[in-house]
Amino acid sequence: MKVSAHCGGFCQTNGYLVETTEGSVAIDAPEGMFNFCKQRGCKPTGLLLTHQHFDHIEDVSLFQQAGVRIYASAPFSPELQLTDLAAKWGIPLACPEFSVDEVFTAETSPIEINGIEFEPIPVPGHSPDSFVFHVALFQKLFSGDTLFSGGGIGRTDFPHGDHELLLSGIKTKILTLPAATQLLPGHGPTGSIGEEAHNNPFLQ
Ligand SMILES: [Zn+2]
Repeated sequence: MKVSAHCGGFCQTNGYLVETTEGSVAIDAPEGMFNFCKQRGCKPTGLLLTHQHFDHIEDVSLFQQAGVRIYASAPFSPELQLTDLAAKWGIPLACPEFSVDEVFTAETSPIEINGIEFEPIPVPGHSPDSFVFHVALFQKLFSGDTLFSGGGIGRTDFPHGDHELLLSGIKTKILTLPAATQLLPGHGPTGSIGEEAHNNPFLQ
């Protein structure tokens, strides 16, 4: 399993491309993510969304038009995307409408794509629809905007944000994963769960 990252859009958001011998899977779709995959000769089988904030979904419709299956924890929702807020801030955005092919929940068993199991774990607080994807076999966690490496956690000052809920979710659902698990967040560099457990000031 090979993971490569694309950082794109106004908010410098990370999208990840997971490649195996059987095919590829994309995690989140910031601006430029579709072309990033295309340039690598990859047409992902599925696109998993950690949440629907505007900066993670700009390229979703391009994936959908190419026949890629879209997975998210909620149906297409402008309210979850905060596009009105972004417009108010003057952030230039292009988030064409898309439809979610498969809505997963906390009860959904791991999503198996190309022989890899992505376990969706709900960690709300940054947004109500935030999930992280744990790939136990390869010790990787795609954490979206819940937990960042280098001492950060997701913002909770957006509508529907909840700081205490986020902290308790990180502590009970993320820090309980193996310390060696690689952290692949929605912004910034990669790290590990162990490093954050020891050094992240929000979690001490
Ligand atoms: Zn976000």
